[in-house]
Amino acid sequence: MSEHDFDLLVIGAGSGGVRAARMAAGRGVRVGIIEDRYWGGTCVNVGCVPKKLYSYAAHFGEDFADAAGYGWNIGTPQFDWPVLRDNRAREILRLNGVYNRLLDNSGVTRIEGRGKILSAHSVQVGEKTYSAERLLITTGSWPYIPDFPGSEHCITSNEVFDLPVFPKRFLVYGGGYIAVEFASIFKGLGAETTLVYRGNKLLRGFDEEVRDFVQEEIGAHGVKLLLEQEIQSLERKADKLLVTLADGSQLTVDAVLCATGRRGNLAGLGLENVGLKANAQGEIPVDEHFCTEVPSIYALGDVTGGPQLTPVALAEAMVLVHNLYSGEAARVMNYDNIPTAVFCHPNISTVGLSEEKARQVYGEIRVYSTSFRPMRNTLSGNPGRCLMKLVVDDASDKVVGCHVVGPEAGEIVQGMGIAVKAGLTKADFDATLGIHPTSAEELVTLRSLTRR
Ligand code: NDP
Repeated sequence: MSEHDFDLLVIGAGSGGVRAARMAAGRGVRVGIIEDRYWGGTCVNVGCVPKKLYSYAAHFGEDFADAAGYGWNIGTPQFDWPVLRDNRAREILRLNGVYNRLLDNSGVTRIEGRGKILSAHSVQVGEKTYSAERLLITTGSWPYIPDFPGSEHCITSNEVFDLPVFPKRFLVYGGGYIAVEFASIFKGLGAETTLVYRGNKLLRGFDEEVRDFVQEEIGAHGVKLLLEQEIQSLERKADKLLVTLADGSQLTVDAVLCATGRRGNLAGLGLENVGLKANAQGEIPVDEHFCTEVPSIYALGDVTGGPQLTPVALAEAMVLVHNLYSGEAARVMNYDNIPTAVFCHPNISTVGLSEEKARQVYGEIRVYSTSFRPMRNTLSGNPGRCLMKLVVDDASDKVVGCHVVGPEAGEIVQGMGIAVKAGLTKADFDATLGIHPTSAEELVTLRSLTRR
């Protein structure tokens, strides 16, 4: 028996921390987990889960309009923000309880409070100090707000779910995942929505054709895009905000959501007490076994600067626990072909490489791409279109990228993720029969080459 209070002490009960704690406890390891705020972490409390609930709510706006073409007359729908907000809060509370029970039932000791690392084997929480053979940092990430006069008036994704009053005029700052998702959500819920982004095209890093397509669709959905613009200052005027942009133009809105990236959540963590240094993005460097420069301290998930995605943190946690406690050969996390979705309207989902990246990696590629109006939008008159695209390595015929923009793109690409991960070829796709009539059948009937 070790002289320590715990074998493994986890700091941060988000996706990665909870998974590591439960899996380790399941192997008979004595585990403690420390959390001061969000049991279940960003994903459950102020991220993926409430965002998806709000995205469902936002889609109803369009669905009501679409229903008319199918013969439904439902009068003028009214949206009630407090009902959505409070129902969401109750659901998240229920999920917090589920997380806590999962931890308790797996024998993990839950410790409430902010953890501060004191040494390579000890963490202070309030008045108490706990010791452990190993520490695991899973404190996640925290919204980053750029410095400009009045930036303190911005909200972030931490506050946006709980706004006391629905913002009739909503401004989103940024052009990444969170910005496009919340621009779509608030537009869908009925706010006059403006997105201000410093670049000329949203969603840097995604396939260029997808970016062009989505930008056009988001604009067509009524989000006002102000590109190559930055916020110069924000001024509070009673319950409104006066926004001044870099070109001197001004607009008045009810709320400004800053969605300008997330950085490692390190406040008060005490890294300096063990000589650990984070980089400029607040990320803790780790090796391929998630070990920091201090041999007894590990870190995984957002705080290490990998892809900031729940399934990545979960997978990393499983690899770490396997490596530390199974006694079997060590595994290494594979970051290839991570499927991802952006829940803007229309949804985007993608797995594998963009056309541009595939061209760099493989040289000779084939691209099959189609855009069309999905069948559901015919009778409704909804002008929304979908995009389906496959990127193929010419030499091996393997599908190395699959990109979908349109309703339920994530539900479609989850299956495609298996095919791409398995290294299936375009010939395998072609040999698969379609499910008719669906939008997704296009992915197995794409016969005409779009370009090389
Ligand atoms: P992103 O990194 O996706 O986007 C940040 C945006 O802010 C970029 O458009 C960036 O511009 C811009 N930006 C950064 N710094 C500044 C600055 N100083 N001034 C003005 N603009 C700035 O971060 P998000 O905050 O949207 O999301 C964080 C992460 O969370 C995502 O990367 C993703 O991994 C995860 N996430 C995943 C979701 C999902 O799976 N559906 C949903 C939401 C979040 P530029 O492009 O020019 O750098």
